[in-house]
Amino acid sequence: MGPVAGAAPRAGATPAQRLARIGLVRDWDFLLHLPLRYVDETQIVPIDSLVSGSHGQVEGDIAEVRVSVRRRRQLLVRLRDGSGELLLRWMHFYASQQAQLVPGRRVRALGQVRGGLMGIEMVHPQIRIVDGTVPLPAHLTPVYPTVAGVPQAWLRRRIAKALRETEITDQLPAPLRRSLDLMELGAALRLLHEPPPQTDAGALEKRQHAAWQRLQFDELLAQQLALRQARARRRRDGAAPLTGDGRLTRALLASLPFSLTADQRKVWGEIERDLAAAAPMNRLLQGDVGSGKTIVAALAAARAIESGYQAALMAPTEVLADQHFQRIAQLLQPLGVNVAWLAGRSREALRRDALADIESGAAGLVVGTHALIQEPVRFANLGLAIVDEQHRFGVEQRLALRQGASTPHLLMLSATPIPRSLAMTYLSDLDVSVIQTLPPGRHAVRTKLISGARREEVLTRIRAEVAAGRQAYWVCPLVEQSDEIEAMAAVQMVEQTRALLPELRLGLLHGQMSAAEKRLALQAFAARHIDVLVATTVVEVGIDVPNASLMVIEHAQRFGLATLHQLRGRVGRGAVQSTCVLLFDEPLSETARARLKVLYETNDGFEIARCDLRLRGPGEFLGARQWGLPMLRFADLERDAAWLETVQRTADQLLERDASGAGSIIERWFAGAAQYLAA
Ligand code: ADP
Ligand code: MG
Repeated sequence: MGPVAGAAPRAGATPAQRLARIGLVRDWDFLLHLPLRYVDETQIVPIDSLVSGSHGQVEGDIAEVRVSVRRRRQLLVRLRDGSGELLLRWMHFYASQQAQLVPGRRVRALGQVRGGLMGIEMVHPQIRIVDGTVPLPAHLTPVYPTVAGVPQAWLRRRIAKALRETEITDQLPAPLRRSLDLMELGAALRLLHEPPPQTDAGALEKRQHAAWQRLQFDELLAQQLALRQARARRRRDGAAPLTGDGRLTRALLASLPFSLTADQRKVWGEIERDLAAAAPMNRLLQGDVGSGKTIVAALAAARAIESGYQAALMAPTEVLADQHFQRIAQLLQPLGVNVAWLAGRSREALRRDALADIESGAAGLVVGTHALIQEPVRFANLGLAIVDEQHRFGVEQRLALRQGASTPHLLMLSATPIPRSLAMTYLSDLDVSVIQTLPPGRHAVRTKLISGARREEVLTRIRAEVAAGRQAYWVCPLVEQSDEIEAMAAVQMVEQTRALLPELRLGLLHGQMSAAEKRLALQAFAARHIDVLVATTVVEVGIDVPNASLMVIEHAQRFGLATLHQLRGRVGRGAVQSTCVLLFDEPLSETARARLKVLYETNDGFEIARCDLRLRGPGEFLGARQWGLPMLRFADLERDAAWLETVQRTADQLLERDASGAGSIIERWFAGAAQYLAA
């Protein structure tokens, strides 16, 4: 019953201050702080009914107290009731404890029973002196999660006080509650904090009791209401309608060497419609790697520009931002658009020019990294913010792009599919456009699993690809420690490979290289001056060199599914059949084997994401903190998925009936976290 979470005890902090640090302040915070388990102190059983392994409470008189010094110091107390005798044993004890335990005194002992050499005994029982008559508690005793410096007894008193003094109104109208077969809220909370003696504590602890279901439902409901509120607020903010004259977007389409796929046309239509509205767009464009999201993003930027506004494109890495810059500049500059570049490592003079162009409005499009939100960047009139690989940014970073006089439209790009339960909850404030089919002429990448012991085969394969005029990536093993070590591994690999493949031209790409060096390496690879690009996972995101047809991944078992899928997506981007070789080391762990098998069996990003979710569990997969939303404490998206539609329907019904009532539900559940949802 000691502290479970290790907040560092700070001298002088009161229990209330310590709890405030973990968000327990208002009565409702305490009411929603629920027990981990329960101790049954409501009953006293005769000593002779105890059996080894059982748990129970007895009351009796102390018959004998002695300190044994055999092997180690121990305090031994013989307790006797009318039915028999029980030995109580302490291996650690204080003099003050010993002083309380005097022969003849009446005590209650509660604990786990075990069989010992001297009959049954309890080790370190919970003890209570009962001089006079002490009534038995009327309910099971809750055990709460707590922090260092806050005794369990203090927390119990505080929560009991909240329970006594708070008027627990049920915000679900009774008929609705009954139709959903839900327990009344006050009854549920009282039952959870103070379960009557005969309650099945096991069901409570497993969170499967009807009382838990009520809280799980309410938590999901509060989340839905908060999301609807955020959406309404966002729409009230207003944004500039980007209606443009269509000249730039038409010119861009006409300049492409291909025509858009049906899916690309469909998603562009959705984005076009959002941009023309006076409420800010909040849209996620989702499509598997290589599905052609970039051109759609370029169209959106062109629409902003032809409407007299600026557009910004932010990418998570400098390599990716640079590639966007090159490609989009190639598309838009010939059409007269001034594209500015802003990254952490831009040269000072260039950066000053870029900042001036952004502020004056001379730059129509700005491409860059986090620098876009870190620098003192002032846009003349930002109409559209595009965030590539949005899951790599935190919510604050995405929102920072939005700051300013008027709210720009927001378009996020992602190759990671969103599971349905997530789309219905955390992300339900987001409109989603999906590109399902790849551009025509693509062949699914063939995946081979090869044991590291057979790497000779890989060399042969690389020689064959290069002889056929194509190129290869060779990805170095993932090194957990640091970028630097990873860079060293890459340098070493180039040297080793050079010895093995002396006739080939090798290039190197890793995270420690300067932006200019990275750009040179990528340009050389794209221009076919390099046959094999040895790289770390910096190539994971977005790199697009269609002539590359072979991807070799060293020690593939060290990478996660999503990363492997992204890496594989670097090939198969042209018309030739491509191959991905996953080199693995034996023996493989169970999960590593499962991961590689998934990759081997499917190329479908959605299917891979589903497996990822299954293998990793939702918490890690979601990265909900990344989205900046309060985590669900009681509900479980996987377990409670079946509820979600009902919860959404209920949220709509409540809002129809009484829009202001929603606020008080949200307030109860997310008081501290609600500000995130305002965004
Ligand atoms: P994503 O960002 O979705 O991974 P990209 O936008 O980088 O994909 O596109 C992948 C490749 O497909 C690029 O070389 C791009 O020029 C090409 N591409 C995009 N759309 C089409 C299309 N409709 N027809 C043919 N090729 C296309
Ligand atoms: Mg991309």
